[in-house]
Amino acid sequence: MNDKADVVIIGGGINGCALAYELSKRDKSVVVVEKKHIAAGATGRCGAGVRQQWSTKENALLAKKSVEIFEQLNEELDADIDFRQGGYLIAIHDEEDMKQAKKNVEMQRSIGLPVRIIDRDEIKEIIPILDPDGMEAIGATFCPTDGHADPFKTAYAYAMAAMKRGTKFYKFTEAKKIKTRNGGIESVVTDRGEIKTNIVVNAAGAWSRQVAKMAGLEIPNKPVRKEALVTEPIKRIFDAMVISFKHGIYFSQMSHGQVLGGIPSPEEKVGYYTEPTFSFLQHMAYMLGKYAPILKQVNIMRQWTGFYDVTPDALPILGEDARLKGFIHCHGFSGHGFMIAPMVAKLLAQLITGEKLDLPIDRLNIDRFKGKVIKEKSVVG
Ligand SMILES: Cc1cc2nc3c(=O)[nH]c(=O)nc-3n(C[C@H](O)[C@H](O)[C@H](O)COP(=O)(O)OP(=O)(O)OC[C@H]3O[C@@H](n4cnc5c(N)ncnc54)[C@H](O)[C@@H]3O)c2cc1C
Repeated sequence: MNDKADVVIIGGGINGCALAYELSKRDKSVVVVEKKHIAAGATGRCGAGVRQQWSTKENALLAKKSVEIFEQLNEELDADIDFRQGGYLIAIHDEEDMKQAKKNVEMQRSIGLPVRIIDRDEIKEIIPILDPDGMEAIGATFCPTDGHADPFKTAYAYAMAAMKRGTKFYKFTEAKKIKTRNGGIESVVTDRGEIKTNIVVNAAGAWSRQVAKMAGLEIPNKPVRKEALVTEPIKRIFDAMVISFKHGIYFSQMSHGQVLGGIPSPEEKVGYYTEPTFSFLQHMAYMLGKYAPILKQVNIMRQWTGFYDVTPDALPILGEDARLKGFIHCHGFSGHGFMIAPMVAKLLAQLITGEKLDLPIDRLNIDRFKGKVIKEKSVVG
């Protein structure tokens, strides 16, 4: 085991792996410690969606810039991450929704996203299996450059590319303690040994609060149990991800034909609850049938749980902590940390190496919770 590194990243999910790659590209010596295996946390349990339609400019820009990276990631990482751009269709249910949608679309178009508001007829043109009555939709927003990528393939592709550049991944290795001295980092103590470093990245997903505590820092994140399911594979019948902020539902068809989706369970809980519930299955099956009646014929194959790492404003916490030099936050993704990981990783690598940042991230710093926070409204499930 390496006993020193320029940067130690705690967590081998998409964010830890992508950041390891971006740092290794910049010639930093990096160690990633992961208590289980790559993508064992939320990354390997996620809905694979890549959406740029957000209510806050911070998220919309992070997602747009990430899509630009996703578009050429196969080439960059010499891999196949299964990135497809079938679009995202977001239901609008009433006049209040419409008002917010118009506001969102205006901001999104101002940064160059090809988003538009569509009527009920166009919903059926884009996804013929949808029933606008069952959806209780008066319209929708649609962005054709939104899409999906395979979270396992993407995380592994980043990890492999980082390893080729010298990053060490220590799997089944748990960070236990972060030693500090004179307001800075001294080392990370794991259950397999100690690694001296001056920079630690907290990319521990739903466990980020415990990792912050190891360095004596409090953060406001909460783990929330989410559930998802996948059906048997069927012939391709739709390309876009369908979502509703009101119902919390999202679903799409994967590249091998399965329909994957989720919705908040009636028994949703804050805390480390991993048991799947039958009430989720019932609720999701009922709502899927309302949105797309033909899916009532399809068998569900599997359900699982995973955690959102939720912050008070549903925006991630990024950047160095003013209370402890070298402690970098990279967590709090509140259910959308896969889709923005490519750009987050690039920005944090720029921050760590002292480069000029392509986008400002000051508004995503931990310090924002001292003042009034502006909540991201476009969240599902
Ligand atoms: C059901 C579900 C659906 C989702 N759908 C989407 C979606 O469609 N699109 C999207 O963008 N996002 C989605 N998300 C959210 C997305 O999965 C996460 O935001 C993202 O994967 C977070 O990645 P991460 O690398 O930050 O954290 P994680 O993937 O959770 O990785 C953190 C890692 O840290 C490790 N770890 C924790 N503590 C320690 C320690 N002390 N020592 C060593 N290792 C440690 C864990 O084992 C874990 O592997 C979904 C999440 C869920 C649960």
